[in-house]
Parts: sequence; structure tokens; C-alpha cells
Amino acid sequence: MSRLLTVVSNEEDWSPQSWRHRPAQQQPQYENHAALTQATDKLARLPPLVTSWEAQELKRALAEAQEGRRFLLHGGDCAESFVDCTSDIIVNRLKVLLQMSLVLAHGLKQPVIRVGRFAGQYAKPRSNDLEIRDGQSLPSFRGDIVNGPEFDEASRRIDPERLFDAYAHSALTLNFTRALVDSGFGDLRHPEHWKLDWIEHSPRAVEYRRVVGEIADSLRLMKTLGGQFGDGHVDAGFYTSHEALLLHYEEAFVRRVPYRRGWYNLSTHLPWIGMRTSALDGAHVEFFRGIANPIAVKVGPTTKPDDLLRLIDVLNPYEEPGRLTLITRMGKNNIADALPPLLRAVRHAGRRVLWVADPMHGNTESTGNGYKTRRFDNIRDELDLAFNIHAAEGTRLGGVHLELTGEDVTECLGGARDLAEADLARAYKTAVDPRLNYEQSMELSMLIVSAGRA
Ligand code: PEP
Ligand code: MN
Repeated sequence: MSRLLTVVSNEEDWSPQSWRHRPAQQQPQYENHAALTQATDKLARLPPLVTSWEAQELKRALAEAQEGRRFLLHGGDCAESFVDCTSDIIVNRLKVLLQMSLVLAHGLKQPVIRVGRFAGQYAKPRSNDLEIRDGQSLPSFRGDIVNGPEFDEASRRIDPERLFDAYAHSALTLNFTRALVDSGFGDLRHPEHWKLDWIEHSPRAVEYRRVVGEIADSLRLMKTLGGQFGDGHVDAGFYTSHEALLLHYEEAFVRRVPYRRGWYNLSTHLPWIGMRTSALDGAHVEFFRGIANPIAVKVGPTTKPDDLLRLIDVLNPYEEPGRLTLITRMGKNNIADALPPLLRAVRHAGRRVLWVADPMHGNTESTGNGYKTRRFDNIRDELDLAFNIHAAEGTRLGGVHLELTGEDVTECLGGARDLAEADLARAYKTAVDPRLNYEQSMELSMLIVSAGRA
């Protein structure tokens, strides 16, 4: 068997539990250990959420993106919540991601891999263990998989039974997503049904109308030709992804797959390591090194080139194509200094990764009226800089990672309708970080394309 197809785990010193011997950051402090074990034992007996076949298929697609033949669109909520597991919210999220992917595929002239931050994005890292309001101190909200967002004692209690609830809501989300995709998405991919009134507020309205017209023509042509050359089916597939933060939960989904070598984490297709948990000797890196999924790591502005190379050695020792995606989240003001040394170091070392830009997490700020927000212009500028820096360094930006929703929320400032601070109160709904709304997400994909990126 080819070296490239073999699995990374070195079974002599790795096991699904070996992370337990390393320092694990950002884990909730469960008090009832018997209840925790009971919950994870139950999860380990239940069927997983995805299959190893799908994970391998995504790895192959990511390997093509790494070679410049595909582009990755990776997006969804910062934190999914159980109450948002509804038909409308799931449909709207798929709709915006699908529409964005059609815009990107049209403009970049290549297939787009759609990966949702959904069906499991329930665990959040936090800067402080405690939150203090009006003199009262309670455990921080760490995502619906751990505790509840309301600021009261009962809701903030760290409850192991939520591990099962997270699995159940992931399964419900995935089941409905698969049904929508299998039924070809009905009419969701018809540009004449897209909600595009916002275009009239943009100085680039003429250009955007032309792009939408061309996409509609291409889709009609495919449908017409379908009778002659196939079924005219437009691929509408999605993969799932989440930050694999809560290691007790993730461990319960590590399965050995018959007829495949090694172990897979079947809680999701593409698990990622967050910026706060990517220490080389930490529990998360230990856990990820032994699973055979395609994996991603968030990389921030303080990452040193040598440390990044060591991380690549540990996570992808056999240089398996598509195995490792690096998601850079530098901030508009840091990217010009922070990104080039990392790109150079990886290129000089001859290591191959898929580079993806997250223009959200380095551009978070607080407004005078207390909202956590992000400016559309800063998000756009970081993306622009990322494309330019990659071009100058001879590397390729092969994807974008965005926090977004298909709803009409008011969480990020700016965009064609120029949302202002006073607008934030109208529909600020996120459980953690501010997301691009439907219109801002569509506009960002149009901007990527109109900048003529390839
Ligand atoms: C996130 O993706 O929501 C997140 C917490 O990101 P990061 O690890 O890059 O800070
Ligand atoms: Mn976030």
C-alpha cells in the first residue's frame, strides 16, 4: 500500500485515551465523574454521526484544493445552539452557504468544497472560567454542550447530560441537512429566488447583477444539457466540521473502522484545533495526531514559524495530501507582519498544507454600547491582504473560514446597507461571536469574486 494512504497513528504510543496524560486546556470542570463516564459510555455505544468513507472523500477533495484545483468554503455559526436547531434556521444556513459557493465557483472557475460549522459546533473556549455581572460570579458559558447561556446558577451548571443532547441535536441537524441535499435542494439553487435587494445599495450593483445573471444562465444550461450528457445534477453536498474542544466527547466517537487501518473521529468530517488549544505538548494535539480524519488548526499572529513546523511534523508526519488545513486568523492589522514568515517557513521546509483565511477572529471589537462586533470592511480587508500576501509569497490561499448565518441578524457593522452601531440592538442574536448576516455573506462572496481571485 502506498505510504500516502496509510494512516498516521502510531499505535504503539497513541490510543483514543492517550490525550488524558497531557495538559488539556479549556475543559469544563465536571464534578460528577460517574455521570460523565455514564454519558460518554452511552455515546460510545451509539452510532457515529459520519462515516470514514465520507471523511476520506473530503480528504481527497482537500488534497485537490491544496494543489490549486478546488476552493474551500468553511462557514457557519460561532456557536450553534440547541434552540436554533429548527427547520428555518437550518434551511437558511444551507441556502446562504450554497449560494455563496455558486458565486465562488463561478468566479474562481473551480469546484467549491462546502464545509459547514454545524452539526456539532457546540463547545466554546473562553478567556475566563468565571463571568461576573453585578457582583455575581458564575461559570462562563462554554457552549450548549457544557452549560446554558442564561446568566443564572441553574443554567450555568456544568451538566454531563448535555453531552448526549449535543449528539442528538447534531444528529437532527445532519439528518435534515442530508435530506435537503439528497432531494437536490428543491428550488434553492435558482438565482431568481435569491433575496438580492441589497445589491441595489451597493456601488457595484451593475457588476453583481451581471454575476447573478451569468450563474443563472450556467445553471439553466446544465439543466438543458442534463438530458443529453447526464442527469444535469448540480452537486449540492456538504461536509460537517466543528472545533473538537471537549475531548471526553470526541473520544467517545473515535472508532476503529473495519477494512480501514487506524482510528477515525466520527463525530464530524473535519474537526479542528482552536487557537487556544494548539500547544504542541497539549492534549488536543495528542488526540488529533492519532485520528485519520482530515484535520485543521487555527493559527494566530503569535505563532512562531519553528513551532508551526513542529506542529506540522506531529500532525502530518507522512505528508498525507489533504490531511492538514491551516486556518490563519491574524487580524487586519497583523496579517502583513505575521503571515509571510509562516508561509515562507512552510514552503522552505517543503511541507504541503491547505492554507485558509479566517478574517473574523482577529477583527473582533467592542462597541461603546457594549456589543461584541466586527466591521465588514476589516473582514474584507484581511481577506484581500491574505490573497495578496499568498500571491506575493508564491503560495495559494485555498479557502475561507467565516462566521455567518442565513438570518437577517445585526451583529457585524457595515456592508452594502451600512449597518451602524445603533442597528446592532435590533437583531443581535449570537450566543458568542458576531456573524455576517445573509446579505453581508453574499456580498463578501461577490467581493472575493470581483477581485478576480484565482
Ligand atoms: C472560533 O472559531 O469560534 C474560535 C474560537 O476561533 P479561534 O480558535 O481562532 O480563536
Ligand atoms: Mn468564534
